[in-house]
Order: sequence, then structure tokens, then C-alpha cells
Amino acid sequence: MSYSRRAFLKTGTLAISATALPAHAATPAEMLDVRIWPNKSYTRVTLEHTSPVRFKYFMVRSPKPVRLVIDVKDLKFTEKLRAMLAKVNKNDPYISAIRAAQFDHETVRIVMDLKQDATPELFESKPNSQYRYRLIFDIHPAGYKPDAIEEEIAKASKEPVKPEAKPASKPASKPAPNKGTSHKPAPKRPSKIVVVIDAGHGGEDPGAVGRRKTYEKHVTLAIAYKLKAIFDKDPAYKPLMTRTADVFVPLGKRVRFAMANKANLFVSIHADAWTSPSAKGTSCFALSITGATSTAARWLAQSQNEADIIGGSNFNDIAASGQKTFLDMNAEFKAEYSLEMGYLMLRHLEKINTLHSKKIEQAQFLVLKTPGVPSILVESAFISNPEEERKLRTDAYQQKVAQAIYRGIKDQVARYPL
Ligand SMILES: [Zn+2]
Repeated sequence: MSYSRRAFLKTGTLAISATALPAHAATPAEMLDVRIWPNKSYTRVTLEHTSPVRFKYFMVRSPKPVRLVIDVKDLKFTEKLRAMLAKVNKNDPYISAIRAAQFDHETVRIVMDLKQDATPELFESKPNSQYRYRLIFDIHPAGYKPDAIEEEIAKASKEPVKPEAKPASKPASKPAPNKGTSHKPAPKRPSKIVVVIDAGHGGEDPGAVGRRKTYEKHVTLAIAYKLKAIFDKDPAYKPLMTRTADVFVPLGKRVRFAMANKANLFVSIHADAWTSPSAKGTSCFALSITGATSTAARWLAQSQNEADIIGGSNFNDIAASGQKTFLDMNAEFKAEYSLEMGYLMLRHLEKINTLHSKKIEQAQFLVLKTPGVPSILVESAFISNPEEERKLRTDAYQQKVAQAIYRGIKDQVARYPL
């Protein structure tokens, strides 16, 4: 007997709202964890705490060292907090030390000594399936300007990504997996087909975690590397990866990467998770134009998009502008192409694992929204299912998933050349 996501949806939603706390709770927040994530382009400090806090911050540039001062109200000062903040790596490119003290009866003052002048970016994040309340500080080099994916999408939308052309003849017809759709294929490309391979999650965002402590972010990267190796041997394709190491890449940046590299296809690799260990199987997602087709898909879209909240971008704004541009640009081509590619991929995936759903699930994942680029998200198996977790850890299964994705893409491109 197996349970679907849908069967557990109601319980899951209730559990989340029951644990949510009202803003500015009377009891001061307690610090649960401090995570410091040094990175070439910035260092991220995440303070995870039990309830909402109020904060303000300012830079002190003289006398040296440059300091970032953060005053936090409604936070309990403890020795544990002091110890957690002290765990800065000597090699951190931006931060040399972090100290904390009770400033006045209601304020804890946190001071970061910086190795160079910096532009801090601070934001709050509400609880999600993975974390509680968070204050997130990104310490960027001085002069840093926040990302503006809206601008990038607007710029790109001035030139059509995939100009439509009248087909010279109808493509060789094989029975279509979803009848009643038609294509206006673009002319045959003389150059290689650019496939962007997106390993889900990474860095600060581990994705789902299995019972044997298998991290989704590691599995997705391993499969992504294997898929790249397969495409590397095929002269018709040019594979590119959105990340090649265990680093956090905001969802918007992945989309921008695909646009900047004039991607023809986009495939995002993930592993599924659910509250019940019995949920299992492989599935494929494509972007729906009219909205998520099932409550379960909507639930999943929300938790997936939280990665971008961790990343600090304003998801709603991006989603709205991305959606509008997307609708303007060959939306029909993209949607149909993605859907058919997904169906062909499932034919190969069902040979290596049970399918969680025989249909292509549709959801509003931001990574599937690159304008004009057919995009698929593959949930390679359930990391929350002990047997599938064991499989996901093996090179053999990872290789099979990569091969099935490759075969699915090849089949669709053979039917309708890009
Ligand atoms: Zn995922």
C-alpha cells in the first residue's frame, strides 16, 4: 500500500499553521543556531531563532576595523548565543570576528568585525519545512548592488529568444503522447543545442534530508555531473551546469544563467520527500500556464520556492514579471514542448523506478520559468523513502537517472528538432 502526497496534504498544512507564532511574542526569542557560510562573492550569516525579533543595523567605518552593528530586540542573551556567534572561520573573506552582548534591558547588540569595507544585505525569513524564524545577513563587497532579475528578463525580452518560423514541412509524425497539440518548430539549428543542467539546492539550502542523512543537494549534484558527462560525448549538445559545487545559487540566478547562455533546454534535478516514508517513485514537473493543476503540486511549488526566500530575492515580484514575459514569448511552444519531453522522459524513467505519477505534474516552479526555454524538473526518487534513499546514494542509480533524462531529451529533439 502506498500513500500519495495528496493523502497527507491536509495534515501537513494543519501542522504548519499550529506551530506558527504571532508577531512579537511576549516571550523573548531564543537562538537555535548560527550558520556561517563563506563564499567567494559574499558571506552569509543565518541566525535561526524561535520567534520573530525586531532589529536595526548600521555600519561603523571609523575607527577601523569596519564593523557591522546589529541591534536585536526580543532576543534572549545567553552564553550559548555568544558561543554560537564566535564560530567564525579564520579564512572567512569578509568577517574576522562576531561578538554579542546585552546592550540595554531589551536589546542584544551583535558586532561583526569586517576585514574590508562591505555592503550588508539583511532580511528576515519566516519558518518553512526546514527552518524556524531566521535573520539572514549577506556581507557583500563594498559597492554591491542587489540582483535585479526583472531587469534581466525585461532586457532579454526585447530580443525574441526563439524566433518563430514557418515549418518547411510537417515533422515526421509519430503518435504524440498528448494528443491534440501541435508545434511550429523553429528552423534546424546549425549550432549545438545548449542544455542547462540544474542541480537542485546547494550550500545553505540542503534540500530534503533522508533518514540516513543523505542530503538532496549532494544527490542532485552527483546526477547533474553524470548527465553532463553523457551530453559531453554527444556532439549535438552543449551541456552547462548552474552549479558545479556545494554552493547556494538563488533560483533567480539559475534562470538568469539559462538566459545569459541562450539555453535551448533546461532540466532541473531534485529528489522528492514526504512526511510518510512509504511515499515513493519518480516524477516529472513542467510549468503550467494557468496555475498548478493539483493542490499537491501547489504545496510542493511553495516549499521549492522557499529556497529563493532563503536567497533573499522577492519571489512574488520575480514570479509576476517572469510570468508576464513568459506569457508573451512563445508560451504555447514552450509549454507543449516541455510536456511532451516530460512524457518521453517518463517512458525511460519507468524502466528504472516506479513512477510516483504517470502524468506530468504541473506547478509554478520559478526555475521552470526561463522565458521561451522548454524546462523540466525531475524528482529522481523519494529521499524520504528508506529504500529509494539507498538507491539514490548509489552511482548505478544516479547513472540510470542521468541516462533516462538524456534519452528523454534525445527522443523529443528527434521528433521536433530545436
Ligand atoms: Zn528539491
